[in-house]
Amino acid sequence: MQRTWCKRLPAADLLVCGGRVVDPKSGLDAVLDVRVSGGKVAEVGAGPAHGKSTRVVDADGMLVLPGFVDLHSHFRTPGREDEEDLASASTAAAAGGYVAAFGMANTAPVTDSAPLLRGLVGQARKDAVIPIGFFAAVTCGLAGEQLTEMGELGKAGAIGFSDDGRPLPTAALTRRALHDAEVSGGFVAIHAQDDSLFAGGQMHEGPTSTQLGLTGIPSLCESLDVSRTLDIAACEDARVHVCHLSTAASLAALARAKEAGVRVTAEATPHHLTLNDEAVASLDPNLKMNPPLRAESDRAALVEALKCGLVDCVATDHAPHGFEEKDVPFEEAPFGCIGLETAFSVLYGQLVEPGLLDLATLVTRMSAAPAGIAGLPAPAIAAGAPADLCVIDPRAVWTVTPDTLQSRSFNSPWLGRELTARVKLTLAAGRVAWDDLA
Ligand SMILES: [Zn+2]
Ligand SMILES: [Zn+2]
Repeated sequence: MQRTWCKRLPAADLLVCGGRVVDPKSGLDAVLDVRVSGGKVAEVGAGPAHGKSTRVVDADGMLVLPGFVDLHSHFRTPGREDEEDLASASTAAAAGGYVAAFGMANTAPVTDSAPLLRGLVGQARKDAVIPIGFFAAVTCGLAGEQLTEMGELGKAGAIGFSDDGRPLPTAALTRRALHDAEVSGGFVAIHAQDDSLFAGGQMHEGPTSTQLGLTGIPSLCESLDVSRTLDIAACEDARVHVCHLSTAASLAALARAKEAGVRVTAEATPHHLTLNDEAVASLDPNLKMNPPLRAESDRAALVEALKCGLVDCVATDHAPHGFEEKDVPFEEAPFGCIGLETAFSVLYGQLVEPGLLDLATLVTRMSAAPAGIAGLPAPAIAAGAPADLCVIDPRAVWTVTPDTLQSRSFNSPWLGRELTARVKLTLAAGRVAWDDLA
């Protein structure tokens, strides 16, 4: 069943010459040429023939990678098109090397009915430059009371179900949600949070929150709900996905569940993998997110978990907010930051370049792994595969500014900062979706 949609663009015909092709799935890490014809990878090798009309892309010194898949974005549509819409979100995703992305259901109105979801699908067909798909809500209006019609929503194209932004309030509701999602052939993606421990928190509870006099959100707030959810998933033998894991205690619960055979997958965000709560001392509202940036020991544990695959994939939790909303004191700012356009640059510059994570592992966690969770074929640089790839200049240094971003919002933790590595070209579903070379 179709789970992603985009507008029809002309099929790509081009030759990407002399780039370092890294595709762990095809076992490739070599300087090769990639010929794309009619939107498909026609040939991967040294010096393939090309027709006269074919565009030649000089990828000398560049990386040619399978395109990325983001399981967790907020497209802000319907309701807050001033912050993002499907055109701007999908363009931002393409500019970040993504070939598929999925939006969460905390829109206004909430994506909790089949007609609303079908409307979004129609809009994606009209506006999206890469294939995008949608989560539907677990509960009507995200109110945490009545379950949505998951069967109908699944038929209308929902990739899964999530009340992201809100936790599921009770064990009983979580149990019924996991059961209904399983019956509908889908899965639930959990925003793990114990509200009684969250209690107006602003940042991670630790020495920095004490120093700043801000209300802390303890690690337990997340790990308690992760443990509970995974116990329920074990009981129900239901599939579950855990969003934006941020603490070492949650990772321990995840490891126990995986060892016990629970069908669980998990994601981590670029910001939790590269920043810690000490950064919040700057009181930059763009560093206010939920879950919050955690202790350095949590961050380091998250990197290890991504490396070994305990955490299956990277997801951005791209959460656009208007400038005015974030241009307030830290305590008053909403949670969330954008991430689609900086994800690879940040992880490449801060984990791969210093030798903390190898490139092939990062590519797997950003491409094949999330594609598998979404039920999509893994993007592959192999003859016959649809062209889902990106060309990245790993030497390019760029500054994150409103002008260098495609997103309609610029609430990035890296705003004003220099990053290395820039996506130059993205082919998604055989179409040129982002082109910074022409
Ligand atoms: Zn969330
Ligand atoms: Zn989210």
